[in-house]
Amino acid sequence: MVKPIHRRVIVKLSGEALAGSEGSGIHQATIERVAADLVAAQALGAAIGVVVGGGNIFRGVEVSSRGVSRQTGDMMGMLATVMNGLALEAAIERKGAQARTLSALSVPQVCESYSCQRARKHLAKGRIVVLSGGTGSPHFTTDTTAVLRACELECDAVLKATNVDGVYSADPKRDPAARRYDRLSHQEAIEKDLKVMDATAFALARENRMPIIVFSIGEPGAIERVLSGKGHSTIVGE
Ligand code: UDP
Repeated sequence: MVKPIHRRVIVKLSGEALAGSEGSGIHQATIERVAADLVAAQALGAAIGVVVGGGNIFRGVEVSSRGVSRQTGDMMGMLATVMNGLALEAAIERKGAQARTLSALSVPQVCESYSCQRARKHLAKGRIVVLSGGTGSPHFTTDTTAVLRACELECDAVLKATNVDGVYSADPKRDPAARRYDRLSHQEAIEKDLKVMDATAFALARENRMPIIVFSIGEPGAIERVLSGKGHSTIVGE
């Protein structure tokens, strides 16, 4: 029986990870695959919180050219993450596991509001907790949210799902000379301005000594493999 390498984690899923090859919106086959992977990862014995992004539907920065303020745009972006969260919760439950969506923006007709206590309670009951609504404040990202929630919920690591199998010195899809890192410190990630997460997220992780494991979500079972200590990934941490 394989044991998970971490007992409690936050998985960060960008909106893009739910869009599949479509590039936007929610791709049904993709969300089913990701949900099955989360359920298999939990079955290893790990407690799992998932922070969902919203970029497949809306990003706050996109509105400045449309005469909408950044604050309003960011609220729209956070609401987009709630939509992704609800879709993911339903997909997880279709796989036979229990899930609850919590939102940092209060939308009580839609789902429970986030509090640390409530998230802990659901995790203790063996539910996968889907954390939506970002931080609830504009000018942040869901990457920063993932690190924040990992610290609050006393997780062992953030599992950051991306399109590539780790952190590279440049975009490996554009630059064949890009170098892949097996491991690097938070400080190095900030100094090298590596685009895998924003600097606020890396700084918060550095202050709290929170490791970030960067891996590709492209193949079925990717999350389960990372939690089993297999597969390709880059560890950002001291
Ligand atoms: N957002 C925000 N505050 C937060 C988290 C997210 O205002 O704490 C907004 C912001 O507009 C962002 C959008 O929600 O562009 C979607 O989040 P993000 O870009 O992080 O999603 P991802 O790139 O992971 O899909």
